[in-house]
Formats: sequence, structure tokens, C-alpha cells
Amino acid sequence: MTLTKKIIIFMIAGALLGLLLNLTEWNQNAYIDTYLTGGLFHLVGQLFIKSLKMMVVPLVFVSLFCGTTALREPSMLGSLGGKTLLLYLFTTAVALILALSFALMVGVGTGAEIPTTLEYAAKADKPLIDVILNIIPGNPVMAMAEGNMLAVIVFAILLGFSASQAGGAGAKVIEFFQSFNEVIMKLVMLIMHFAPYAVFAILTQVFAQLGIDAINTLAGYFFTVLSLLVFHALVVYPLLLKLLAGISPAMFLRKMEAAWSFAFGTSSSNATIPVTLRTVTERLGVNKSVASFTIPFGATINMDGTAIMQGVATVFIAHAYGVDLTTSQLLTVVLMATIASIGSAGVPSAGLVMLQGVLLQVGLPVEGIAIILGIDRLLDMTRTAVNITGDAAVTCIVAKSQGQWNEDVFADPHAGEIKD
Ligand code: ASP
Repeated sequence: MTLTKKIIIFMIAGALLGLLLNLTEWNQNAYIDTYLTGGLFHLVGQLFIKSLKMMVVPLVFVSLFCGTTALREPSMLGSLGGKTLLLYLFTTAVALILALSFALMVGVGTGAEIPTTLEYAAKADKPLIDVILNIIPGNPVMAMAEGNMLAVIVFAILLGFSASQAGGAGAKVIEFFQSFNEVIMKLVMLIMHFAPYAVFAILTQVFAQLGIDAINTLAGYFFTVLSLLVFHALVVYPLLLKLLAGISPAMFLRKMEAAWSFAFGTSSSNATIPVTLRTVTERLGVNKSVASFTIPFGATINMDGTAIMQGVATVFIAHAYGVDLTTSQLLTVVLMATIASIGSAGVPSAGLVMLQGVLLQVGLPVEGIAIILGIDRLLDMTRTAVNITGDAAVTCIVAKSQGQWNEDVFADPHAGEIKD
């Protein structure tokens, strides 16, 4: 059996067990709550997520360093960076326009009840100027320690570029980091083998806590976001792949399965970077030099799924409070949510924190977030899967246009598959 199949089976089993615990109300049994879902399952899930996170900073730094050195010519870095950035922004704008139009069309949130206890502790969102200032790490070690990915990315690119220009001395450093890169990927593979058990534990816990009742009360919002997310992943990206690069969407989607299950389990694009990177290079045939640049970059700045949630949530909250959004407010949402998706980190719930900025900008009550908070976890899982699909799709398109895409690897259904 392949690892992906095993993960999917364990994932479904976990969701079913969680629902069972919830429906039978065993989830409220003190022993089950303390020792099983809140104890053992919590432990297994968190250990796994932490092990993946453990790999993110070293992996992003080393692979980006190696990726940059492989580009050699500064102009290659420029054209790769330019195309990638443009496509990332474009897909996010499309996501937002679709989300807003659909949400307005179905009138999501009209007549929604606003709970009387609206406790939502607003967290500070970062002003744009800070986001820009943080791109250059005043202290790269601190940027790594704090997991400030954009700064780590910039440092790795600058250092990689210098190494490729530094002759013999540079070559030695490059050789070391190339070996280091392989060692890191080996460890990622080892960790991936634990994924089925961890995903089982995480899903049991989430579903035992939430059940389906949570969805019932917010069904309109939930299914609007969900259908847009599915549409974006299964229609928009495939169209772009086909039209811009002539790449087969069916094969692409099929090979994304493993990365999806990790995104689903961790709700974090960052924690999924090792798996997304492996998927696009080993399974989809993208050259490492391109992927090691575009994937960490995308996990940090490209979040189409998050943008969709933010678009729908803004319309939902506006309607719930009886506000009609004007055209200029809608344009502000597109702009702000695009910036918000760049500024938000690829970690669980980051999208909700950044939603505050969008709401404030259009003058809507931030407390509205409290209404959708309860079911956000389920949507977070799904939008994270969409976020990384966007990164992978853009990566394939850019790689093909740069002549850095191996069609044979892509066409082989079993390329890079991990057996369990
Ligand atoms: N969890 C999402 C991610 O990591 C971000 C968010 O929308 O909350 O991609």
C-alpha cells in the first residue's frame, strides 16, 4: 500500500471515530476527554506537527540557498521571481473576485443571528509598513528562531547568490549545503511515515470536539466557503495549468493527494512545506532549483484559500450586521485581503487574525469574527490544502516556462511514490 492511501484511510477513520464520540457524547466523558482525545491523541498529533515544524526553518533555508546557487545568472532569478510573484498575486485576486461575487449572489449571512455574547479578543494585526520592514532580517538567527519566513527566504537568497559568485570558496559552501539538503530530506521522509497515525489522532480530536452541530448553525457560510474552495482547487487551477502551460490537470491533482492530507492534518502551509516540496520535485517533475524557490515563497505569501475565506467572511459579517457593501468597499476587500494573504504566516488560524485588518479597513465590526470562530478549524484544514495546491500549480507553470520541468517524471503515475 502506498503511504498516501494509508494516510487517507486513517484520516477517514479518525473523522468517523471523532463523530461517533461526539454523537454518543462520550467525548464529554471525563476519562475519554482527559486521557484519550485530550491526552494520547493530542500528544500523538502535536508530536507529529512539531516534528514537521522542526524541519521547516532548516529545510527552507538550505533548499532555498541551494536553489539560488543553481540559478547562477542574476537574470534567471529575476525572471523566475517576477513570474512567480505575478502568478501568485493573480491567482489570489481571482480567488477573491470569485469569492465576493458568489457570496453576494447567494446572499450569505442575510438573516444570520448575531449571538449576544460576542467575545472576541482582537489580536493586533501587523501594519503594512512592518510587513515590508521585516523582509530584511536585522538578525538572521533571530528571524530563524522566530520563524519569520519571509526574512529567512530573503537571507537564504542573498547568501545563495553570493555563494554562486564567490568562486572556489563559494563552491565548497555549496557542496556542503547540497549534502545537508539531502540529509534533511531523508529526515522528512522518516517523519512522513508517522503521518497516518498522527492524522488519525488529529482528526478524531477535531471531530470529537466539533461534531456536525457546529456546522448546522452556520451551514450557509460553511458551504459557501467550502464550495468555493473546491471550485478553486478543481476548476481554476486546472484551467490555469491547461491554458498557461498545457499541463494535464488530472495527473496534477492525483499527485497532490499526499500533500493535501498533510495540509489537512496540520492546517499549516508552513508545516507542509517539506511535503509540498517533495511532491512537486519527485512526483510532479519540477526541477529542484525552481521548486526550492517557489514553494517556500508561496507558502509564505500565496494563500488563495485564505483569501476566499476572508472574502466570504467579510460579506457574511456585513450581511449579518445588515450592512450593504459599496463597490469601493468591495475593491478595498480585494486589495486588503490580497495584502493580508501576503502578510499572514502559513500557520493555523492566521487567516482569521488577518481578517481583522480587512474588516477594520472596510469599517465592519471585528466582533463578527466570533460568529464564525467555532467552525473555522474545519475550514482552516480545507483552505490550507487549497493554499498549497496554488503554490504547486504556479510552481509547475513557472517551471515549464523556464524549461525546468521533467515531463517523463510527471507522466509516470508512480514516480516518487512512497511505499509503506
Ligand atoms: N492555516 C492557513 C495556512 O497555513 C492560513 C490560514 O488561512 O489560517 O495556509
